Amino acid sequence: MKEGIHPKYAEVEVRCACGNTFKTRSTKPELHLEICSACHPFFTGRQKLIDTEGRVERFTKKFGAQTAEQRKTAASAAKAARATATKAKKKTTTKAKADATA
Ligand SMILES: [Zn+2]
Repeated sequence: MKEGIHPKYAEVEVRCACGNTFKTRSTKPELHLEICSACHPFFTGRQKLIDTEGRVERFTKKFGAQTAEQRKTAASAAKAARATATKAKKKTTTKAKADATA
């Protein structure tokens, strides 16, 4: 190797957001990962939500926590409101017809 042109290639500790650490070699003094083979669903075989830097928490803070149950109730409420609105419309039309004939 030619002197003075190669970066230092030292052994470094890699730290993942999940807490796993392992050693490798790099020109960087330290490495930080968001995901590694110990916590990635592909390697663990488990489907899970990957929340590395509180992104999910930030989302729920901004838009509010929503569960499937809440969405269902909201949808049924909207449907009921629409049904009553159509009923009222029908009533007024029949009343108008009755007024017209009278
Ligand atoms: Zn990890």
